[in-house]
Amino acid sequence: MSQSISKSTDGFFDIYGGRYVAEVLSRPLEELSKAFDYYMKDKAFNEELDTIRRDYIGRETPLYFAPTATKILGGAQIYIKLEGLANTGAHKINNAIGQCLLAKKMGKKRIIAETGAGQHGLATAAACAKLGLDCTVYMGEVDVRRQQPNVAAMEMYGAKVRAVTSGSRTLKDAVNEAMRDWASHPDDTHYVLGSALGPYPFPDMVREFQSVIGKEIKKQAMERGIKIGAMVACVGGGSNSIGFFAPFINEKSPRLIGVEAGGVGDGIGENAARMTGNASREGIMHGYKSRFLLDEDGQALPTRSISAGLDYCGIGPQLAALGKTGRVEFTSAKDSEALEALSFFAKNEGILFALESAHAGAAAIKLAPTMSKDEALIINMSGRGDKDVFITSPVFRKEEWLQFLHAEIDRLESEKDIHDAKLMNA
Ligand SMILES: *Cc1c(COP(=O)(O)O)cnc(C)c1O
Repeated sequence: MSQSISKSTDGFFDIYGGRYVAEVLSRPLEELSKAFDYYMKDKAFNEELDTIRRDYIGRETPLYFAPTATKILGGAQIYIKLEGLANTGAHKINNAIGQCLLAKKMGKKRIIAETGAGQHGLATAAACAKLGLDCTVYMGEVDVRRQQPNVAAMEMYGAKVRAVTSGSRTLKDAVNEAMRDWASHPDDTHYVLGSALGPYPFPDMVREFQSVIGKEIKKQAMERGIKIGAMVACVGGGSNSIGFFAPFINEKSPRLIGVEAGGVGDGIGENAARMTGNASREGIMHGYKSRFLLDEDGQALPTRSISAGLDYCGIGPQLAALGKTGRVEFTSAKDSEALEALSFFAKNEGILFALESAHAGAAAIKLAPTMSKDEALIINMSGRGDKDVFITSPVFRKEEWLQFLHAEIDRLESEKDIHDAKLMNA
């Protein structure tokens, strides 16, 4: 087994990956593989994608030198890749635009997607609006209720949000529902999977569309003479991290570090640590083989994290394989450490991380002082933190937030009274 696993071989990364799906999905997956191979080599497709990246997403995103954080931590030079400046606020748009453009070239008219916290649904809805495609997003009923701001944004972009009422009514049920839809409409529909996982070719395809992050860094570092010692990214399904790491996987350096959600503790149901946790097992779910948090019967265990984007029970197969060879190292950050990192970078650099990305920030805070001053440590800020105000405000300023919410409810209800009165008088 070679040390470098930069893409799959027949859909596998070492023993992980594959295509474990119902027979009806084999044909659309095969059609997708062929189209992906074809268009990734097509000059016109790549030029169109580059133009959209530049003018619509806002690429390239800056590689920001963080002078105050560097001085305080007293070791490596800290750099932050500002993916949060991408249109829609996170890296997810890189994949959504890539897949939607590919689907359009394939002649598909309709896009479906699954979403948990709503970030992938939002990016897909925006990409469909931009490219003129019909969009349906499957979302667990529990998540629809918890994530109203994102549901509102998806609807604003013209997407239909379908609340899934089966099972635990969360992300994994939304995935199952999206796969069912795809199986019954393979001719006109493309399923935009949101992370670097699922059946082949999704892990390769999502990595390729996200690898724009790592490629830009390689160029930016070269131009500015930055010597990269280590790169750190948060790991949910693994799309921002694998895209960030991709151009460096076949090289011996820099160190590549993935950070999982440590939640509130090491116990079952207290975190989402698929590589570093004690409930981590090999298994097959959602069409691929990888490491998951499973009970003895192979059922998905509950997960916990303050960041909604890091609480999926599985990890992309390529990262599982790279963890096995040791090319990618894994660690975790607790909710409390992520919150501290959020505050640290906001106050010292004027940069508000998404809660997911703050896990990478937390690991960087620990690592930087152990590194030499002539090396760079790059943090991938996968998204910006504006979206998390409903989670961070109750932590940092609970009383004021409660008063604000009460006042908003009062205001809405009194406006409703006035509105209703007007309607009756009309
Ligand atoms: C969804 C999300 C993640 C986690 O997903 P990956 O596929 O692991 O990248 C991380 N950060 C942000 C901002 C997200 O929206």
